[in-house]
Amino acid sequence: MRLGLFGGTFDPPHVGHLALAEACREGAGLDRVVWIPAAVNPHKQGRDRTPAADRLAMVRAATESHEHFEVSDVEIAREGVSYTVDTLREIARQRPGDELFWIVGGDSLASFPTWRKPEAIAALAHLVVYRRGGHDLDTGALPGWMEGRYTVVDGPALEVSSTEIRQRLAAGRSVRYLVPDPVLAIVRERGLYRTPPAPRR
Ligand code: ATP
Repeated sequence: MRLGLFGGTFDPPHVGHLALAEACREGAGLDRVVWIPAAVNPHKQGRDRTPAADRLAMVRAATESHEHFEVSDVEIAREGVSYTVDTLREIARQRPGDELFWIVGGDSLASFPTWRKPEAIAALAHLVVYRRGGHDLDTGALPGWMEGRYTVVDGPALEVSSTEIRQRLAAGRSVRYLVPDPVLAIVRERGLYRTPPAPRR
């Protein structure tokens, strides 16, 4: 099967993530999209994060109504910094018959060559790049070997981020319709995001 893999911190998951995953599923003809919450995102080390168990529960809640979405705890179970190359090697071992697609937001494409072992990543999975609202992608500095290794999928620009949602919640403001209702239920039950985010180090 054509298996999409969508990694993120998902702190919390929001409608921007859902729109991206759905557009990539449809646009790249994927059979399933596996959401993979990171233990520690290599690009966000040193930041305060919501406990992995809470983020995992929220991702499950966000995706449970979609028959083609699933959630994997490979990165959370592995602990430590979540490098995509390690995740892909593990999934390729677990699902040898599947064709793998790694989904990224268009804003992440330019930095892709700086990730750990980008050529190994691209050998294990085809990249699917989500372009928000037809904004130009920054492809100028991509190395030649990336040619033909990624597919661009277009979708709407939903200007929402987990950062903004954490800030709204800490200020006691509504995030209804920015996160799915089942995610909001977990936020309320577990009392998440009540305090302002710690300053970024
Ligand atoms: P934060 O605000 O905490 O940095 P975030 O909202 O960017 O988080 P991540 O979990 O880091 O969320 O994002 C995972 C992936 O989703 C990334 O590839 C990112 O580019 C993409 N993404 C995040 N928000 C949106 C959005 N509103 N529309 C489309 N893609 C998004």
